[in-house]
This record gives sequence, structure tokens and C-alpha cells, in this order.
Amino acid sequence: MKRQGRNDPLMSISKARLYEEVLQAMSECVFILKKSGEVTALNNNFEKILGIPSNIENESSFAELQYVREDGSPLPHSQLPGVLTLEHGTSFHNVVVGINNYKKEMKWVSIDSTPLKLSKNDEKTALVRISDITEQKKMENGMIQAREEAEKANMAKSDFLSKMSHELRTPLNGILGFAQLLELEESLNETQRDFVQEILKGGSHLLNLINEILDLSRIETGKLKVSIDEVHLLTLIDECINIVQPLAAKKKVSIHKQLSQSQDTLVLADPIRLKQILLNLLDNAIKYNKEGGSVTIFCHLEGNEQLVHIIDTGVGISVEEYQKVFVPFYRIQSTKEEGTGIGLSLVKQLVHLMDGEISVTSTKGKGSDFSFTLPLAADFQAVMRWDEEVEPPAGKGERAAHYCLLYIEDNESNLNLVSSIMKSQPSYTLLSAHTGKEGLELAAKEKVDLILLDLNLPDLDGYEVFNLLKENEKTKDTAVIAVSANAMPEDIQHTLNKGFNNYITKPINVKEFLTVVGETLNSTIEHHIPDYKILSTGPYGEEAVSAKTLQLSLHELKTLKENNYKAAIAMHYTGNDWSISQIEGLKNTFKKMGITVTAVTDAGFNWEKQIADIESILADKPDILISIPVDPVMTAGVYQKAAQAGVKLVFMDNIPKGFQYGKDYVSVISADNYGNGIESAHIMAEQLGGKGKIGIIYHEADFFATKQRTEAFEKTIKEHYKDIQIVDRIGITGPDEGEKVAAVMFSKHRDLNGLFVVWDVPAEGALKAAHKAGRTKLVITTIDLGRDTALEIAQDGLIKGVGAQLPYQQGVAEAIIAGCALLGKQAPPYVAVPALKVTKENVLDAWKWVYNKNGQQTILRQ
Ligand code: ADP
Repeated sequence: MKRQGRNDPLMSISKARLYEEVLQAMSECVFILKKSGEVTALNNNFEKILGIPSNIENESSFAELQYVREDGSPLPHSQLPGVLTLEHGTSFHNVVVGINNYKKEMKWVSIDSTPLKLSKNDEKTALVRISDITEQKKMENGMIQAREEAEKANMAKSDFLSKMSHELRTPLNGILGFAQLLELEESLNETQRDFVQEILKGGSHLLNLINEILDLSRIETGKLKVSIDEVHLLTLIDECINIVQPLAAKKKVSIHKQLSQSQDTLVLADPIRLKQILLNLLDNAIKYNKEGGSVTIFCHLEGNEQLVHIIDTGVGISVEEYQKVFVPFYRIQSTKEEGTGIGLSLVKQLVHLMDGEISVTSTKGKGSDFSFTLPLAADFQAVMRWDEEVEPPAGKGERAAHYCLLYIEDNESNLNLVSSIMKSQPSYTLLSAHTGKEGLELAAKEKVDLILLDLNLPDLDGYEVFNLLKENEKTKDTAVIAVSANAMPEDIQHTLNKGFNNYITKPINVKEFLTVVGETLNSTIEHHIPDYKILSTGPYGEEAVSAKTLQLSLHELKTLKENNYKAAIAMHYTGNDWSISQIEGLKNTFKKMGITVTAVTDAGFNWEKQIADIESILADKPDILISIPVDPVMTAGVYQKAAQAGVKLVFMDNIPKGFQYGKDYVSVISADNYGNGIESAHIMAEQLGGKGKIGIIYHEADFFATKQRTEAFEKTIKEHYKDIQIVDRIGITGPDEGEKVAAVMFSKHRDLNGLFVVWDVPAEGALKAAHKAGRTKLVITTIDLGRDTALEIAQDGLIKGVGAQLPYQQGVAEAIIAGCALLGKQAPPYVAVPALKVTKENVLDAWKWVYNKNGQQTILRQ
């Protein structure tokens, strides 16, 4: 803009007039406030905005008005911006104030006030500008109110839907359940069979619809949460194809799969919700196809994303309707097929919840291509080791026993249904109770194996009943399955977290019901261990059976309890966390099995003491001896004596020299020592950045467990880390030699970067030696998570990580194996508990896994 010079016509007008014109033209009310209380109005907007005549001269008129803040609370006159400016000399901008003006109208204004220095005697003044924002405020308030009302309505809607779904599910329970029972009835004729099929078809359709409406409303209110996991995409696609195959066959539609990549990818998704997405899209692709048409599922990678296309040869969709089909309840007008218009909107929301996008392209009359993206798992190839399934041991799963079940339920129709199901199952007897109180009394009086507990009882809350069952000595070990119409995943998880053994949703699906009841009865002892592949092999090279797969059925437990067996535990040493925790696992599990532990001995690493311990144990004639030999050669004789006396021998970690599986002993149970050696090597390499010189302190004794650790460590370093050099190996014969041997290693190799020590106790000795030698940059890795080692890892000391054993779980496994032996069942020769990599990042969580206890206090107390 060009600045006007002296010739500017405006300049010929007097300044005072010019300012007066400008001030009057302003939409704001402008005035000057003096400390003395005088007010000089600069324009005529006073009356318009404040309802005060413009010729006011005193500020006291303002004090008579009422002011409110934006939140509706009263604002005292002394807090008005102009007054504050006079007092503190500070400026204020856009202060929103509500004024109940002289005309009793509510006006919303925005106030600016700035200090001015006008008079010589330094009297404070403030220039105040007030703009009327009443209209703007009205609009804003209207919008807020509308939004609040919409939110309220939406909440009410989802609340209504969730209640309705519950109400609908309960009678559906009866309809579907009895129809399923009728379906099993052999005496039905063809027509009756058709009728039953119609009821089942209609009922399932209704159930699907209720579930979809519920999902949609829960997404809208942000209540539906997905739990993202690594999912094998192709496996899931195959599963879905199998499910829709009958529908496709009916319509003579063929389904094809096309992959641009050679292997199965791992995507990040919620497996249940991804299945729901695929099934919905496949269902549409078949439903809106023509007879004899085809559906192709095409998968390809694009950057970090996986794209999945579901392509059909059906009726197609016009461009204008590409977006509309994703709107809830929208259906293309010409559509003849039955439907609700919910499916695609739900699919879109679910894809978004998994950080993906969905779109469609189509040609009318030729077909459509619905495609969506999913994020890829960070490294979808590096899952081999943990992913392979462990073979379950042979001889598991037979279930011929007789069980007594108690169903606590007030709804007569549900009770009838379950009792009808049970009538077809000769191995179950069913007791029933209509109230929580009645159920508690019955459970305490009768010998009940399993309780089915409705969570909505008329007298007591289902959770209250559960707590009372757990408080009572007579019922505390009885398995409890929750039965509820509430199918929300987070509620199911919440219930399971409380300790319920399982959860069954209504309407009851007969097959699923029987499976869950059967599984619960068969899994009486819980293992909190992961399903990892075991790499260690047994003393004779036998393949490992994972401890995770061991089970005793309820019937087997009962048999064991009836026999009052006795067990003894002969340890090499009981003074470390590993032994204490393992003994605890053994004792707790034996207690569940009704087996009395008559002795726990500590040989203090002395084989002569161990022989004496076992001699005295044998005098008490135990049925079971669980033991770890101090010296596999020197103690072999006393174990032989025990075996000949008919005592069943279960070994931890090692067997006596020359012992034969099946003849001399039942089984040997250890950690995955090989796997732990591998973990320890990886931690070492990560800490050294893949290069350096390292030493190894190994165990000289002939212990297959400790040998495998060192072997795995060395092999992993040699095969994977070419720039890490193993410069020395020194053996120890006992845990106390760690410090001495490490000191030798340090004096021989001044440039040593890392040290592997075969277990944690000698590693702690090596740590002392490192401190004495002033080695501040060394990396030590080892095996076993003892308390001091955990503390050193947590404090970022020289010990950087371990491959840990899970001693508590090892104890549980040993007790179960002992139970198998007492029942005359053959136990596998070698059982192992999976390896666990522990570093600073997961040391607290790991502690929980390892010792079955919270480590927070133990580790952080120091
Ligand atoms: P529904 O199938 O129950 O009607 P959807 O939300 O799944 O509900 O689909 C919405 C509408 O989009 C359908 O009514 C149909 O008109 C159209 N549509 C969906 N998938 C296809 C498809 N593969 N080919 C043609 N039209 C489709």
C-alpha cells in the first residue's frame, strides 16, 4: 500500500474530527476509565451494548450491573479487565464476559483493556473496548448443546441397544438351544427336520444381526476395543474360505486365492475382528454375485502394508454409490438379496480400528473389488523359533470318569436346556440351584466337580457367589464356569481375570458348551508358561516334551487324593531362589493332588550328605522321590536302592550315571538349557554391538544341563556373530570358583570385552573379580535369574542379561509327572520348561514368570 503524502485530502480535516468519525464508525464501545472513577465515553455504542446512556460520567454505573464468566459463575466488578488494568497496569485481550445490562438483556461481550498515560500528574487511565459477541455466543452455545444432546442420545441409543441385545439373547438362548437338541433327535421325520432347520436358520440370523448392531453401536461410542496381535493372514483367509464354501457351492460360485508373495505374512490385527471383516466381504462377494461367477482373494505387499482384495464377478456398484455403501443401513435400491446394510459400515469401522483403510472400485454389471490395508508385523519372518507347536505327549485325553456338575441359574428355560443337554451325556450328573444362596449350600454339601454359575442371580451377584465359593475350604478348589448373556470381550476378560476357569455365553451353543465343560474338567492344574518350542534334548538326546502340555484330569486327581500318597524331595542345596521356588511349585501342586510331602533335604552340595539324606528318606517309605543328584556318579548307588525299593524316581535337571528311563526312573525335568544358552549369546552380541573378545567360564562336571548351556552359547556366537572372538575358556567345578577363575581370565586378557558364565552364582563371583580388577566396561551374561543377578541387571551393572529358567513351573511339572507315575501312566522321558530372555527391559515381568511372585519389592527394595 502506498502511503499518502501531504496532498492527502483527509489531512485537511482536523485530526479531532477525523478521530471522532472513526470512533463513531466502530462497532465496539470505546471509553476511557480513570483511577478517580471518571468515565469518558469515546463513542455512542454504550447504550447499544450496555444499555447505559453514552453521557455517563462515573464508573459507579458499572458497579450496578451483573457480570458472569464464561462458565456461568458470577464475576465481581473488581475483576473486570478495565478495573484490573487500572490497578496493575496490565493489558487484557478478548476477555469474554456476560453482562446483564440495564435493559435486563443478557449480552455477551469480549473486552480489551490497555493502560494509557494521558495526564501529566500521572493519573492512571485505561482504554477499554467492548465488542458485542452475543450472536456468536448464541450460535456456539447452540452447537455445544446440540452436540451434548446428540451425544446423550447416542449414549442412550447404545445403552438401549446393549440392554435390548441382552434381553433378546436370553429368549434366543431357549429357542436355539432347544432347536439344537431337537436336531439331535433321531425320531424326527423329514418335514419336522426341515422345520427345525428353519428355526435354527432364523435364530442364527437374528443372533448375527443382534451382534452386528451391538458392535456398531459400541464402535460409535468408542467402547469397542480391538486387541492387536501378530496374525498369520493366509491361515485366517483359509479358515474363512472354509466357512463360506457351502454358501458359495449353493450359488455355484467358485473361490480362488492369488498371492503375489511366496510366504505367509504376519499382519498386525485383532484375529477375531479380522475374521469378521473377511467373512463379511466374502459373504457379500458371494451374495451379490451371479450364478456360476467367481470370487478371488488377492493379497500383495505395498511398503509396510498388506493389501487384501476381495474381487467378485457380480452385479457391481455405480461410482456414486462407492461411499454410500459404507454408511450404516444403506442398501442399493435395486438390491434383491436380503440384508440389513450394516455389514460394510461395520467392516469399515473395524478396518479403521486396526489402522487400515478400505475402498471399493467396481463396474456396474461386471463386478466389484473391495480392498483393505493392514499394517505388517515389524519382522514377519523372525517368528520361527517361538511359533512351532510342541507335540502333545501320547496317552492324553481319555475321559471316562463320572462328574457331578452344579448349575446355579434362576431362569427356568436355561436350566431346562442344560439339563436336557446333560441327559444325553452319561458321564455327567447335574444338580441345580435357583439362587446364589441355595447354590452355595449345595456346593458345600455335595461333592461337586464343576459349577456353572449364572452371573445375574436374583439374590447375590455372581461375583459375590464366586468369592464365597473361594473362601470356603470345601468349595475353594472346585472349577467355576461363568454363564452369561453378556458377550462383550472386555467383560469376559474381566470375569476370567477374577479367577473363573471359563466363560460360556448365552444363547448356549450345545457343542461349544460340551467342549468348554470337558476342557475345564480336564485342565485342573494350570501352567502359566508360554507355548514355546524347546531346543534342549534329554540326557540320552531324547526330544523334549513341553511342560505346558502336562495335565491331570479331575478324575485322576480324585484317584490320587483317595490314595494318600507320600513324596520326598532330596535337593543338592536349598539356599538359593531357584531351589526355594521349585520346592514351592512342587509342594503347592502336591497339595492339590492330596500327596503329603514328608521330607525336604539339603545336601549342601556334598554327595556323602545326599546319600545319608536319601537313606533316611527311604526309611520312611515314600511313594515318590523327587531329586537332583549332587554327583551323578557317587550317588548312583543310593538312587538304585530307592528304585529297587519301589520308590518312583523323578529327577530334576540330571540323572545318576547309567540310569535307564522306564526301568530306573520315571522322567527328568529341566529348563530349556540349550534355549537359554542361545538367549545368553544373543544378549552378549547385542550388548557388544556384534564385535569384541569374550571369555567363557563353563562347568567341568558331567551335567547335561550345564553342558548344553555352554554348547548353545558357543555355537550361537560362532554361527551368528563372526566378529566376536572366543579367546579363552576356563572350567569350574563348583559355584564358589567364579571369582578365582574370572580373576585369572582378566589377568591373561587385558582387552576382554565380554564374559559368559554358566550360571548366576559363579557369575556373581566373576562380577566381584571384575570390580577388583577395575573392569568397568565388561559385559557379563549368564543363565538363571537369582535375586542379586536381577538387581545387577535392573541397575544396569555389568551383568546385562540372562537366559532364565522357570523353577516354580518346573516344580509344578515334576509333581504332575510324579502323579502320572503313581497312576501307572507312562510319562515322557524328558520334559522341559521353555527358555526366557531377560534384560533390563523386562526384568520385573520376568521375575513374576520365574518365581510366580511379584518382584517389585524384592528387586527394588535394595
Ligand atoms: P447388506 O449386504 O446386509 O445389505 P452391507 O453393508 O454389507 O449390507 O452392504 C450394503 C449394500 O452394498 C448392499 O445392500 C449391497 O447393495 C451393496 N453391496 C455390498 N457388497 C456388494 C458387492 N460385493 N457387490 C455389489 N453390491 C454390494
